[in-house]
Amino acid sequence: MAKVIYPGTFDPVTNGHIDIVYRAVELFDEVIVTVARNPSKTILFSVDERVEMLKESFKDLKKVTVDSFDGLVVDHARNLNAIGIIRGLRAISDFEYEFQMALMNRKLAGEITTILLMPHAKYTYLNSTIVRNLAQFHGDISEFVPPHVFERLKKKFGYK
Ligand code: ADP
Repeated sequence: MAKVIYPGTFDPVTNGHIDIVYRAVELFDEVIVTVARNPSKTILFSVDERVEMLKESFKDLKKVTVDSFDGLVVDHARNLNAIGIIRGLRAISDFEYEFQMALMNRKLAGEITTILLMPHAKYTYLNSTIVRNLAQFHGDISEFVPPHVFERLKKKFGYK
């Protein structure tokens, strides 16, 4: 059973994250999408809200479960007996950071491999910050997030 975790902030989950998970389930037996409880970022949605949105997004994928974690990603991976950490790579701009993280995580836990997956080209410019910024000004983000996420953003930002 090859189990991997896909850690992130997911504030909120976007179609880019979802694209990565669909690729991961083709390769592995179990994918655990896991929400960082204490990210070094300012957060819009609570951990519970982010977990709920992820669960709704992957309800049709039997290989996917959703949870959250505190502390080091590698410790969470070890606790779950995962063999790898999935991350998404959109552009060169992601590379430096993801490369550093992968090498640091390998140093901390040599038995856990980081796997970088590229999304469809149409999602390479997409991130949660852009989605939140567009939603703040009531922009149409229907191409970037699933409908249930759009609904939550509409409520948060009082779309008419
Ligand atoms: P983090 O704060 O851990 O970077 P994010 O939710 O921003 O959390 O991203 C989680 C992972 O998903 C990261 O590896 C990021 O590069 C990747 N990711 C984010 N947006 C996309 C996208 N549009 N396409 C592919 N991967 C993405």
